[in-house]
Amino acid sequence: MYRVLTEQFGNPSAQYPLGFEARSLTEDSRAVIAGALGCKADSLYFTSCGTESNNWALRSAAWHGRRTGKHIITTAVEHSAVLEPLRALEQEGYEVTRLRPDRSGNITAEQVANALREDTVLISMMLVNNETGCVFPVEEVARLLRQRESTALLHCDAVQGFLKVPCHPVSWGVDLMSLSAHKIGGPKGIGALYIADTLKNFRPLLPGGGQERGLRSGTEATAQIAGFAKAVELRRDNLAEKLAHMAALKAYCREKLLTIPGVEPVGEGTAPHILCMSLVGYPSANIVNELGEKGVCISAGSACHKGRPSHVFSAMGLPKKVAAGTFRVSFGPDTTEADVDALYEALKDHQARRFPML
Ligand code: PLP
Repeated sequence: MYRVLTEQFGNPSAQYPLGFEARSLTEDSRAVIAGALGCKADSLYFTSCGTESNNWALRSAAWHGRRTGKHIITTAVEHSAVLEPLRALEQEGYEVTRLRPDRSGNITAEQVANALREDTVLISMMLVNNETGCVFPVEEVARLLRQRESTALLHCDAVQGFLKVPCHPVSWGVDLMSLSAHKIGGPKGIGALYIADTLKNFRPLLPGGGQERGLRSGTEATAQIAGFAKAVELRRDNLAEKLAHMAALKAYCREKLLTIPGVEPVGEGTAPHILCMSLVGYPSANIVNELGEKGVCISAGSACHKGRPSHVFSAMGLPKKVAAGTFRVSFGPDTTEADVDALYEALKDHQARRFPML
């Protein structure tokens, strides 16, 4: 990224040599990311973030199906980057069915089957829930749509799933898939949208100068694009080992934390990088602050909620006290057993001070 900012800073649309260099760098980067997703490079469009990819996908998919109907299916536990654009569509006359998860945080393809109607134009289901780590049956939903010969488009917010769990939009038959670089160690401020070949003339969210083959205008963020591709390259190197390492640490962490009085598991997320637990009855914002002071960084629900109770835990029907104390531990390839031990010690000390009699 530094090299692109300081030496290869041409505008990819420009005709001078620095511009050609920037163009080929952008296209090489696109090919790397597309390769990891198993799609053709020209099915991938760069955006400014996962939120933009979701907004684009949802709004344009609704437009795409405007002659068929106004019904949309999603889950009640999507990220706000899906729920809020759908709320806006609702205000414009769309009807949105929000599927609720069970107590484990899971949603089934059968729930989608039961909600699917003739006038359904769009289904939006995330691949991995960012708060519980639950993996949703996107492949099964794609199959179901084919079996029912539905013309509804399937969008998947794979921001938390890409390079963490199996993610194959082309072979699954997903129409639209959102990605974001910063969930795999890339820079913030760069995302991508996969658009299936079958979606000719997909409507742009940002019309303008015609970059990204006319579908996403705005001068390409070449340094971020290069950073996204580099992050993918680095993450793909020994990916299976990295994921096994994260899964093993998550299991180790879960086991250790459960020995602390007052700590309970939340949901049954199987993604290797997210562990959801609750310090029952203790406000999670407080524990996040207290551990932060000791250099241990965990999250309360989703970082995007900023202290508001999470819609995910309400939708799961968690008792209030469990929901209030819910915190999320995230694991990356560089997380170590010592990091988990530091979290365990800090949490154990905290509970010992809270309950000196235990
Ligand atoms: N979708 C999910 C599941 C997320 O976890 C996030 C970010 O945390 C987003 C979308 C938004 O991505 P971005 O921050 O790139 O806009």
